[in-house]
Amino acid sequence: MNALVVAIDGPSGSGKSSVSKGVARALGLAYLDTGAMYRAATWWCLDRGVDLADQPAVADAVRAMPLVMGVDPSAPTVTVGGTDVGAAIRETAISAAVSAVATNLAVRDELRRLQRAAIDAERASGSFSEGRGIVAEGRDITTVVAPDADVRVLLTASEEARLARRALDVHGSADAASVEATRDQVLRRDADDSMVVQFHTAADGVVTVDSSQLDLPQTIEAVLSVVRARG
Ligand code: C5P
Repeated sequence: MNALVVAIDGPSGSGKSSVSKGVARALGLAYLDTGAMYRAATWWCLDRGVDLADQPAVADAVRAMPLVMGVDPSAPTVTVGGTDVGAAIRETAISAAVSAVATNLAVRDELRRLQRAAIDAERASGSFSEGRGIVAEGRDITTVVAPDADVRVLLTASEEARLARRALDVHGSADAASVEATRDQVLRRDADDSMVVQFHTAADGVVTVDSSQLDLPQTIEAVLSVVRARG
């Protein structure tokens, strides 16, 4: 049996994480949240007092980071040196700082190496998916980390839909004040991230799924139909 590798990229608030977990659950695959790896790297550097502007020091720290990613889509975990950082990496301080770490090219090299190793591990029996494969999501999975993936999807949504979803996630409401408070996290972060990775338009062979008018089950179904269309 050949492992199935599904790569999903998209901007903040496109619904990538929920959709990717849903697709992985439906297909019995593992799930890798690569954004969580950049967040964990940021948490690790801040925890150790590393100046994020000191690029060589950040890269050294990330290379030494004892990161373990749990790839069960029903209960994904992020552990650094035995500490569960799943909640800490979602805090606003990390969201505000993560682009500084993600635009460090030496950090990207190291995390891509770990991401490719995690994807390869799921091709083997004895892995979480028992060799069935993995859904990996992020910003550069379809283009750089796994350009040879069996299925490659760019998940997009209108700016309005993305802001409303993030506001609901972070503030529990999508009223005007919450949307405004979320604007920096979504738009400024995507603008910074765009300096080193391109995730707004689909590369050749990548299928675009626009979720602006779809709810979560409909978006999962749209991605599953891309997987099925591949035969
Ligand atoms: O998806 P999420 O919002 O958790 O990603 C956090 C950050 O990680 C992004 O803002 C981006 O800076 C970085 N990232 C990246 N490449 C990826 C995934 C995430 O640069 N493949």
